[in-house]
Amino acid sequence: MATTLHPATARSAGSGPAPRRRKPLFRRSAPDRSQSLRRTVQFAFLGLNVWIGIQFLMWVHYFESHGASRYVGRPAGVDGWLPIAGLMNLKYFLFTGHLPLIHPASLVLISVFLLASMFLKKSFCSWLCPVGTVSEYLWKLGRRLFRRNFLVPRWLDPILRSLKYLLLAFFAGIVLTMSADALNGFLLAPFGIIVDVKMLNFFRELSIGGFAILAALMLLSVFIQNFWCRFLCPYGALMGLASLVSPVKIRRDSDACIDCGKCARACPSHLPVDQLLQIRSAECSACMECVAACPAENALQFSLPPRASQDECPAEEPAQIVARWRNRSIGPRTMAAALVLIFIGFVGVARLTGHWQTYISRDVYMRLVPHADEYNH
Ligand code: SF4
Ligand code: SF4
Repeated sequence: MATTLHPATARSAGSGPAPRRRKPLFRRSAPDRSQSLRRTVQFAFLGLNVWIGIQFLMWVHYFESHGASRYVGRPAGVDGWLPIAGLMNLKYFLFTGHLPLIHPASLVLISVFLLASMFLKKSFCSWLCPVGTVSEYLWKLGRRLFRRNFLVPRWLDPILRSLKYLLLAFFAGIVLTMSADALNGFLLAPFGIIVDVKMLNFFRELSIGGFAILAALMLLSVFIQNFWCRFLCPYGALMGLASLVSPVKIRRDSDACIDCGKCARACPSHLPVDQLLQIRSAECSACMECVAACPAENALQFSLPPRASQDECPAEEPAQIVARWRNRSIGPRTMAAALVLIFIGFVGVARLTGHWQTYISRDVYMRLVPHADEYNH
């Protein structure tokens, strides 16, 4: 009885190199919706951050005007913009088992984002982070204006990517060398209590040097894809390291893949998606741009490992490929729902248990906020 061998099996049986055969394309049966869904989540979180920013400005203004303006409660979500306070609180919590009193939301939010990264790759960067969203639309603007984005030379790319890990090591080093008591004392001191106001003042009173750096970063982001995220963001570096343990990854099925290379060309992180069977890299932000670009059914998945395949399966048998991936893929809807649920779940529990807000009296803030520039560490 004649047996049809899988091309790989035929090669290993010693029949010599198989002639390179163009693989049949089984077009995907449904259009990809991942990018429209991702955009929706991105803009929802961007809107949430704008709203938090406006509320925070009004809260600060109340104290700066010595109570003359309308009082608006401090939005605890602003703690998400204090990643170093988040790292400090995380260490304090891990070493003492106590939840922090000052900027507790920074601990909640860094935990949410680390958890998301550990299960869903660096999805925080491409689905939730407002800086990532702005960065993405800047390079898209650049592509529209100049019909292309520019590539950094191949030799320079790993050097630039390592900068964000150096920055992370610098900040993590400071936090790691401080004792839990010292961290607690730092955050309970006036500087720690109003570190959010100091951050706001940094941007409101931007020096010419600071403005030039910000403008240069924005300009570079127009020309080079995700310049800040890929090369300089220490928070993204932390999420990338956490994402290394994620069981869900971008995975390519070489039987279904037709080697067109569209996935690699679509990847904003410039990963060789078309040459690997799974993307382990800490640079993968789970943006699913590669999946959206792929024309072949089930060739590329954001998924758990596939089921064991049968070697005798003819490569051109799509039913076998479908079976391999059944219930393994994390589609964009599942991804969006998981991220939103983790976020709402953690924030909800923190709110209900009283570990979301910093409980400091208005009198104390009235004394500290108008003089924020005078407090230094
Ligand atoms: S491999 Fe795919 S999901 Fe990962 S960054 Fe590249 S395009 Fe995005
Ligand atoms: S886009 Fe990538 S995974 Fe999809 S068929 Fe082309 S090379 Fe293969």
